[in-house]
Amino acid sequence: MRALIISLCVLSVFAFGVPSSTSQTQNKQIVIAASTILDGKGGGLHDTRIVIEGSKIVRIDPNATPVNYDLRGLTVMPGWIDSHVHITWSFGPDGKNAGAGSTTPYATYAAAANAWATLMAGFTTVQSVGSPNDLPLRDAVARGALPGPRILTSAEPLIGRGEQTGTPDEIRAFVRKQKEAGADLIKIFAAGSVRRPQMLLTQEQLNAACDEAKKLGLRTLVHAYKDAVRAAVVAGCTQIEHGPLATDDDLKLMVQKGVWLDPQAGLVMENYLLNKDKFAGTPGYPEEVFPAIKEMIPAYHDFFKQALKIPGLKILFGSDAVAGAHGRNAEEFIDRVRDAHADPMAAMVSANSLAAEALGMGNQIGSIAPGLDADIIALEGDPIKDITAVRRVDFVMRSGIVYKDKK
Ligand SMILES: [Zn+2]
Repeated sequence: MRALIISLCVLSVFAFGVPSSTSQTQNKQIVIAASTILDGKGGGLHDTRIVIEGSKIVRIDPNATPVNYDLRGLTVMPGWIDSHVHITWSFGPDGKNAGAGSTTPYATYAAAANAWATLMAGFTTVQSVGSPNDLPLRDAVARGALPGPRILTSAEPLIGRGEQTGTPDEIRAFVRKQKEAGADLIKIFAAGSVRRPQMLLTQEQLNAACDEAKKLGLRTLVHAYKDAVRAAVVAGCTQIEHGPLATDDDLKLMVQKGVWLDPQAGLVMENYLLNKDKFAGTPGYPEEVFPAIKEMIPAYHDFFKQALKIPGLKILFGSDAVAGAHGRNAEEFIDRVRDAHADPMAAMVSANSLAAEALGMGNQIGSIAPGLDADIIALEGDPIKDITAVRRVDFVMRSGIVYKDKK
């Protein structure tokens, strides 16, 4: 790993001319001048300065000096939060899909590269749902040994296999095991796919999983379609991933119970099509599935539009980034606004304060405000007027450290 750490640090110093060590920024005040700031909650600030000390924003002060980073002319906003990625999922040396579970040295470096690409794309926090391989990467980033977004992980997911999944007691034991392994949340596969949406867990099994997690203080993210959506809501789970084929009544029940929805509007499927040669023929991706993936995209748009019509439904940002999509997570914003007609400001907030709240981190990240972590990005252009501005991230600071400064 040492070679990688050194090469990444060298890259950050010479490619972007930025401080590479935490000690340089720990006690120093940093002042960012901005003409336009989106505060992460749907509001804006103009012609002011953000003052950072160590890893925190300490005040907003139009007269603060000296200015270290002049970001006037860009749109400054909180770093994005992607609530659903698979950060260790990569392509192998043969160029083929290697999944999220590969533990070769090649895959390990690829995972570190995914973290770097994700951070450079403006994502300062991700929730990675589905591989115990996330754990050492999460920890390396957290101790400052590797550059990357802050990572939360589910460790090993609970994959529904009907009766074989186990008794409610066995499922509770599985949940406790993930907590002991260091999981920040529990990921549950409660249904098949949009093509085969049947439930893979009974109501009783789901109840056990989400109840045990709740007792341990862990959130539950449930991969669900159709009937599994309502079952997960009834079971007291925290968040629904995907969700197509749920009815309006199911979605209204989610509002009543305060359950979050993380639907996808395109990137995950577009990415399979874009990288078809790399996925085709690897486990889970037979050649014949690709025309079906293409046909599925409009159904995902329709479901997103359906969800937008439900008053009070909390829709957060999650790209479901797998191999090929790391660093391109922001394409999902464009899909949401362009194809599902989401309001651009709501799309931004869904990856800022709303996502922070869903992660239980609303008092730490997701907004530009004193006391919060200095996770700050700047885009060339105004994403509210032109959503493709999300592709042009010129500046990235996480926890007070600048990783990218192209201005
Ligand atoms: Zn996923």
